[in-house]
Amino acid sequence: MNIATWVPGDLAARFGPDPEAMFRQNLASVRERIDAACRRAGRDPESVRLLPISKTVPAQMLRHAFAAGIDRFGENKIQEAQAKQEALADLPVAWSIVGHLQSNKVRQLTRFAVEFHALDSLKLAALLDARLAAEGRSLDVYVQVNTSGEESKYGLQPDALRAFVEALPDFPRLRPRGLMTLALFSDEMERVRPCFRLLRRLRDEAVKLHPGLSELSMGMSGDFEAAIEEGADVVRVGQAIFGKRPTANGLYWPGLAPG
Ligand SMILES: *Cc1c(COP(=O)(O)O)cnc(C)c1O
Repeated sequence: MNIATWVPGDLAARFGPDPEAMFRQNLASVRERIDAACRRAGRDPESVRLLPISKTVPAQMLRHAFAAGIDRFGENKIQEAQAKQEALADLPVAWSIVGHLQSNKVRQLTRFAVEFHALDSLKLAALLDARLAAEGRSLDVYVQVNTSGEESKYGLQPDALRAFVEALPDFPRLRPRGLMTLALFSDEMERVRPCFRLLRRLRDEAVKLHPGLSELSMGMSGDFEAAIEEGADVVRVGQAIFGKRPTANGLYWPGLAPG
């Protein structure tokens, strides 16, 4: 056996004997589903960006993902992202942070992340801006909105968005790109779609106040096709590419039932 492609037992149980082939195949099938959703919605498939979410996937497996054509990884937790970034520093890959950030982790993020999808407070905006200025760089950001009304979800309340957007020019190192949301967790798309529609309406208002806020980051493995039909520009897809996660969702979204 070739040691370079050897997969230890516990990882083989999760990722199969040939992770690169599995990721390549899953990626192709997700891309096909994105294209089909775009066709249904009369949209250009090129207009939807797929952001692969690699949380819980070990760094050595991400080497196989890179070989399968993935060169940007989205992570929910900054410590995990930083460890993987260091482990893969020899590869030309970029890192997106998509989960809630504590203010004491700002410095870690600005060291290596190229975009942040969970901006949800002015305090965090100010800390990020100051840190970015000190490092002489800027950062693409999406403003997270709570569209499901669930207390477990991070994000601004919809009625707080206007004041937030009006304050964004105070932070010149942040490059606002759009709005982000986590929809209701449900298999019934008719209950999920109203979250996407709300984010779209909020974006239509926000972009009048700040022209940078033009994109919608919404849709995950369970709902990205509906999100695209409702206007998503960025879909954040993990499990449909990397396989089912062994960890409970409650680890990432406090308050959710495990599972
Ligand atoms: C994990 C995660 C996703 C992807 O979820 P999947 O079910 O794996 O597709 C999307 N967005 C955020 C913020 C996440 O933490």
